[in-house]
Amino acid sequence: MTRQRVSIREALELIMDAMPLQPAERVPLFSAVGRTLRETIMAERDQPPFDRVTMDGIALAHRDWAAGTRSFRVAGTQGAGAAPLALDAPGACIEVMTGSALPAGADCIVPVERLSLEDGVASIEAAYEPRPGTSIHRRGSDYRQGAVLLAPGARLGAAQIAVATLGGSADIAVSRQPRIAIASTGDELVPPGAAVGPASIRASNDRAIEAALRLRGHPVEACALLPDDPAVLRSELGRMLEGCEVLIVSGGVSMGQYDHVPATLTALGVEPVFHKVTQRPGLPLWFGRKGADKVVFALPGNPVSSLVCTVRYVLPALAQALGARAEQPRRVALAEAVEFRPDLSYLLPVVVMWRPDGTYHAVPRPTNTSGDFVALAGTDGFVELPRGQDLFPAGYVAPFFRW
Ligand code: AMP
Ligand code: MG
Repeated sequence: MTRQRVSIREALELIMDAMPLQPAERVPLFSAVGRTLRETIMAERDQPPFDRVTMDGIALAHRDWAAGTRSFRVAGTQGAGAAPLALDAPGACIEVMTGSALPAGADCIVPVERLSLEDGVASIEAAYEPRPGTSIHRRGSDYRQGAVLLAPGARLGAAQIAVATLGGSADIAVSRQPRIAIASTGDELVPPGAAVGPASIRASNDRAIEAALRLRGHPVEACALLPDDPAVLRSELGRMLEGCEVLIVSGGVSMGQYDHVPATLTALGVEPVFHKVTQRPGLPLWFGRKGADKVVFALPGNPVSSLVCTVRYVLPALAQALGARAEQPRRVALAEAVEFRPDLSYLLPVVVMWRPDGTYHAVPRPTNTSGDFVALAGTDGFVELPRGQDLFPAGYVAPFFRW
């Protein structure tokens, strides 16, 4: 039984229930950026793995300095990556570079700025007082071998990729990307670059949906523009369904005579899960599943609706399919009062503005209709105002969704 007119929350629950977890695959570390981690990364070694020198200078035994020695014989020079030398006698020092291992017998570093080097002797400034442990990053002081550095579900940004190198492996387990296809439907739609007639419309939804997905690191396999013709829809949507796990259709889901999408999908074996969500924009949203591993989002064709539905439903569904750690939406206060009478949740475009004191608030930028998408270009996303309330005072705090 198709559920009708569900709430946003019910819609999300039904979608999440239907979303299968993608299998994991191993990829080279350099191509894992933006992907979702599916293994635990543990430290291959202590970090740092040896007592690490953090300044260019000389390494010496503090007890020699404490005994009054100020000029030290340079017994050797040690760069990063070289096996540690040893102090060979009292009064000796080793020249060391940042990143090198601490020479055996040394327990303190005097930076090169605080000494003069002449004829193999390093003389320390009279005013400089070295302390034991100065400029030494002790082995294991950050964490120990085997410590958990990253847990499954982490999104791999620059910092996480850097940390993943400490697992020591050249490849890494991440979620396989689901294959995603996008179909826009409508006899009026013409792609940019093609000739337009007096009643045609530039197809924008497919590009906008794809952009929203790509910006979150989801590649799109296939994109098609389809007419409102049941036979063509059936063959083309059928073909697209074969080749993807997530199909996103826009247009043709309302009650018009040419709105063939739900019936076509059902005929193709897609089981309808819900139709219509008590929200504006995006009320006609349709969602279905096919077998255990395919889902179909059929979004209303109005450009504002289709983008809002992509961000509110498709993106969280994909994040879950990848096993990403669930993110709570940020919350933001309204800069001014909002009135909304219909008995629907209101997904209201906003600009997030920072105040001079460092706090921020959401300035409403309502669109004239759900077709008025030019206004969206100046906005950051939308807030979700719940159904059952007509007046939202300035300062009202609502969840915020970025485009
Ligand atoms: P529909 O959901 O098919 O009834 O479409 C609702 C409105 O959105 C109509 O005015 C369509 O012309 C418009 N529309 C549908 N699909 C697109 C699209 N891909 N790009 C831009 N506008 C669209
Ligand atoms: Mg249409």
